[in-house]
Amino acid sequence: MTLATLTPAALKADFPSLAGGWHYLDTAATAQKPQAVIDATVNAMGRDYATVHRGVYARSAEMTLAYEATRRKVASFIGGSEDEVVFTRGATEAINLVAYSHPSAAGRRRRVLLSVLEHHSNIVPWQLAGWQVDVCPLTADGCIDLDAAERMLTPEHSMVAFAHVSNVLGSQLDVRRAADLAHSVGAQLLVDGCQAVPRLPVDVAALGCDYYVFSAHKLYGPTGIGALWARAELLDAMPPWQGGGSMIDQVSFARTTYAPPPQRFEAGTPAIVEAIGLGAAVDYVSAIGLPAIHAHEAALVAQARAELARINSLTLFGPEDSAGIVSFALEGVHPHDLGTILDEEGVAIRAGHHCAQPLMEHLGVPATARASFGLYSGEDDIAALIRGIERTRRIFG
Ligand code: PMP
Repeated sequence: MTLATLTPAALKADFPSLAGGWHYLDTAATAQKPQAVIDATVNAMGRDYATVHRGVYARSAEMTLAYEATRRKVASFIGGSEDEVVFTRGATEAINLVAYSHPSAAGRRRRVLLSVLEHHSNIVPWQLAGWQVDVCPLTADGCIDLDAAERMLTPEHSMVAFAHVSNVLGSQLDVRRAADLAHSVGAQLLVDGCQAVPRLPVDVAALGCDYYVFSAHKLYGPTGIGALWARAELLDAMPPWQGGGSMIDQVSFARTTYAPPPQRFEAGTPAIVEAIGLGAAVDYVSAIGLPAIHAHEAALVAQARAELARINSLTLFGPEDSAGIVSFALEGVHPHDLGTILDEEGVAIRAGHHCAQPLMEHLGVPATARASFGLYSGEDDIAALIRGIERTRRIFG
């Protein structure tokens, strides 16, 4: 397998944290940051710093332009319009926002269809906000079983909330079909795009979903910021979630009125520096191009799966065409032990339940080992992983 599309060695040089030959295979947890993002945040925090939206002085006006430019960049990156993009702290907060603020349509229950593979952040908010939760099973190779979803959906459901790409299995959702199924019973589709946005071209209009959420830190941007995209009429119908500055129209003790979306959902001074970093991350990823990143990661997954499959008593989870993520278990070795030994070899993988305990239960394991790739990953990272696993095998006999 040749990795013709990207030259990871050159791209690695953009990432100061990868200097020195660290084999970072935990990009699904959080991506390393390119110098362009670091520079943008340093400048926003230093040279250019000022508040946004309220300042009458030039630097604040410039900061506001830069901050709002990120909203436009995010919108065009995922195919929406800028007034449909709400900045949140991340995907977790975005899902909480929808779970709490979703207006119950007349005659409909707060009933949501989730799937077995969801991240806890797409399970617990619905539980906390009092939704009745139904759980769609998976196919044998670990994809959300949309035939089962079709049988399970009823006119009582007002929401379907599925991951676009599983953070454990890398399995990909047919979003278009999921949207059609949800809409056929009058429900809406929320897509958790955390693991998709960094590795697949996303166009919310073509996908037909109603809500799309993601976190910047998995897209090579800063922590502390992410986005909720929702169709304009859905945001219009949603009451405010948190109260405070910036989300109002007029405030009096008798009656307070609210700003239109997206400001209605952005109470308080926002994550200004992080938003500018997110804009730089979108620019960086867009310049390389999602089709190239996707092809690159697909080649890495194919190579990693083929090499892992040759190792004795190693079980691979997830479908052949998993997006950027490979989960596995080594018989007789706890994933944490494997992770520790690999760390000694300069290889960083994830070991644990990956915030997907229902999926672990479904797979019948307490934890898995997970290698996940990014645009900077290369064949050398896979070779180091395989060497480390072979050493672990020798240690455990
Ligand atoms: N959904 C998926 C599929 C994820 O991988 C993650 C992060 N691991 C989240 C949601 C939550 O993202 P965050 O913690 O950045 O809000």
